[in-house]
Amino acid sequence: MQPISFLDLAAQKEKIAPDLESRMAAVLSHHRYILGPEVQELEEILARRAGMKHAVTCSSGTDALLLALMAQNIGPGDAIFTTPFTFVATAEVVELLGATPVFADIEPDSFNICSKALAAQIDRVNKESDLTPKGVIAVDLFGLPANYASINDLAAQHNLFVIADAAQSYGGSLNQKPVGGLAGISATSFFPAKPLGCYGDGGAVFTDDDEIANAFTSIRMHGKGTDKYDNVRHGLNARLDTLQAAVLLAKLPIFDEEIAARNRMAKAYTDGLHNVVATPVVPANAVSAWAQYSILVENRDQVAAILKEAGVPTAIYYPKPLHLQTAYASHGHSVGDFPVSENASDRILSLPVHPYLDDEQVSFVIDAVCDACSKTKSAI
Ligand SMILES: *Cc1c(COP(=O)(O)O)cnc(C)c1O
Repeated sequence: MQPISFLDLAAQKEKIAPDLESRMAAVLSHHRYILGPEVQELEEILARRAGMKHAVTCSSGTDALLLALMAQNIGPGDAIFTTPFTFVATAEVVELLGATPVFADIEPDSFNICSKALAAQIDRVNKESDLTPKGVIAVDLFGLPANYASINDLAAQHNLFVIADAAQSYGGSLNQKPVGGLAGISATSFFPAKPLGCYGDGGAVFTDDDEIANAFTSIRMHGKGTDKYDNVRHGLNARLDTLQAAVLLAKLPIFDEEIAARNRMAKAYTDGLHNVVATPVVPANAVSAWAQYSILVENRDQVAAILKEAGVPTAIYYPKPLHLQTAYASHGHSVGDFPVSENASDRILSLPVHPYLDDEQVSFVIDAVCDACSKTKSAI
């Protein structure tokens, strides 16, 4: 058996090499490194795949979220509701604009924001604070779309916009509707380790709204009006490099197969492990992009150490929820404020789930997890 890697970009590159090399060579011969033709070609494909009018690429998933908030003129005094169990970028962009992230706890089995907790936080901010509720950033953690039916409804009742942080879920769907089209604005990431990754940083925002799309293209280029030297708002330098667009164009033809492979693997893990550990729950109407396959287990660090010894690499996303991070200390939160997120941080463990694992490796991982759990009495 080949050694098991957590992510295998080499195997993927092998598979796409001819197309990748010719697409990169094309950029190196036309030299249009910024907003070259590949960027537009990619944006057309992304918009079509998402069933949205506009897909605007940008320099990272973080900048995609920032563009989404800037296009809504978010600033000091505004409250943006989100989950504390996410990568820091989700809340960081809110802070960078001087607005206030307000956390709501997650559902225990999807790890995504809980609509009930969200409703309670919206009511609390309305009653008890000077902040103005403006929007919700729902996060599709580990690739599973959040519950947009209830989040979009709740947001509409309170006149809030919804941004989908789809950094991990590109390739997933809900009720047959692809990620990118599940909220008013969706933001995704093409960081190399995401389900669709480029060879550096990259991202995209999706919307059906012409005015918002126009704001995205303006903000990603220094707040341009008619051109770069006509500045109508404060903006960023946040474009996707043409070379990265070329890489993504070479990866897209095999992307759906890769998502299918991740789903087959996730099913094998769940079949083999659901009696031993808490395995991820995917609602019948959802398809996860399986950015991560994450289990909950007691004695997590011991289990991870035994797995490492056995040749099974694992990762912990995320060891500390945002409300307990030093950077968010000014919010005055303490342990116990978001117990479901805290419990997840203590017990979560992600197993290798990339598309280039074979059946033998997947069985090996399952056996190794069962073995590590029995040695440490960690079954849940
Ligand atoms: C990766 C990630 C981001 C940020 O994307 P970058 O491309 O790394 O800037 C934002 N939110 C979530 C949930 C992520 O996983």
